[in-house]
Parts: sequence; C-alpha cells; structure tokens
Amino acid sequence: MPDYAAFMPEGDAVHRAAMRLQVLAGQRVEVETPHPRAALKGLEERLDGRVLESVEAVGKHVLLRFEGGLVLRSHLRMTGRWRVEPRGAQRSGRPWLVLRGDEHEAVLWNGPVLELARDARSVAHLGPDILASPLDFDAMLARLRAQPQRAVGDAILDQRLVAGIGNMWKAEALWQSRLSPWRALADVPDDKLRETLEAAHRLMQGRLDGARPLHHVYRRVGRACRRCGGVIRSYPQGEHARMAYWCPGCQKGGRQPKA
Ligand SMILES: [Zn+2]
Repeated sequence: MPDYAAFMPEGDAVHRAAMRLQVLAGQRVEVETPHPRAALKGLEERLDGRVLESVEAVGKHVLLRFEGGLVLRSHLRMTGRWRVEPRGAQRSGRPWLVLRGDEHEAVLWNGPVLELARDARSVAHLGPDILASPLDFDAMLARLRAQPQRAVGDAILDQRLVAGIGNMWKAEALWQSRLSPWRALADVPDDKLRETLEAAHRLMQGRLDGARPLHHVYRRVGRACRRCGGVIRSYPQGEHARMAYWCPGCQKGGRQPKA
C-alpha cells in the first residue's frame, strides 16, 4: 500500500508557512484567485482590499484573519504549498490564491481546502496544539482518556484529540518513549502518554528551529533498530489506514498485527 500520508504536510510545515506569511500581516492586500476552482469561491470579491490582520497556524490549518471578522482557512492536505515572493515576481501556472502586499506576495499553490468563514468556529473541534508553549497536557489527556479502547498510535493522529501531529512525528515520538502504537489508551499510564506528547512537541519544535530530523523508525522497515537491534516493522493503522512504523523489540505490547 503506498504511504500517501507520508507526503502530507506535518504541523511544523504549517507553522513554517504561517511564519513566512507574517510579512503580510497588518497590510491591506490585493487578492487574486487565478485558478478557476478557486475563482468559484468568490474570495477575490470578498477579500480584495481588506487588511490582513493576522496569520496563525492551528493544528494543520493556516488561519488568515481579515478585517471585518472574515477568516480564511487553508488546509494544505498532500499537495498545497504557501510561498512568499517579492511583489510582482514572475511565475508560470495558475496558483489558487495570491495575496499581494506592499513588498511581498503570498502565493498558494494547489490549495485543496480553502474556506472563508465568519469566525473561527470551523476549527473549534480541533484539540490542543502540539506546538503550543506551554503544552496543554491536561486538555490533551482529557480528550485522549475519553477514548480508552483506541490504540495510542491511532488516537494521537486524531486532530480532534491533539492537533498537529503527523504520521512521521507520531512514529518517531512513540519510538522515543518506547511505546507500541498498538497499545490501547486504557493500557498506557499518564506519564507514558506525557512522555510521548512531549517527544512529539520537542521533535517538531526542533524541526521548526532548523534541526535536521533523524528518523529511527519512520520509513526504516526491515532495518535494525538503533536502540535494540530489533527489525523495524510497518502496518496500516486506524480508520484511515495510515502507515504505522515501530520496533517490536523495544515498543512492546498492544494488539500488534502478525508479521
Ligand atoms: Zn528497538
């Protein structure tokens, strides 16, 4: 099975996009929607000439707040990319959205999810952000504890429980805390869950700060675990069949699929 999920932008990529977009915050922007599918949404008519008040990443969404209480929500899925270029830069192709400020323009390519809302209710269902500082561990724990039968590797990808963890960081955080993705939440003590969430936070923040990720299990199927020498495995997990990666040698327990 191809691991499509591996190409999905992780929360840290979304945060980096939001940081780049900050150069436009506070400016009155010209808005264009060159791509025909984006043009259908009527964004140009409703947003052109408004002040872009703020840009923030919430989980895997970039939220752009415009004057007048309008919020544009962008989710990048597998293919979307935000780029910030000098105003008037040459380009070929038809981006979804161009926000043009005094000196820069932000360009959204292949933005499959782009919705305009009157407020932030569209993200009200999201769990606490894994990149928030300080980490709201108690709120995450409360949401995770409400689903005791779910496997931890499945649950921490559920954006309603914890927002922002992607498939790669899930695998690496679970390895860091020696926790099997197949253990039911009911079987995982608080301190272990906390260790896993803190590992995800630390790894993702490190990436945001420019550290190069060293993968211990992600996409290392069949290779030796650097900690115990066990052979790394993978298997689809959860209702969306995202590929889990783990070392059966040092991440024991749970209902592990047969090799
Ligand atoms: Zn191992």
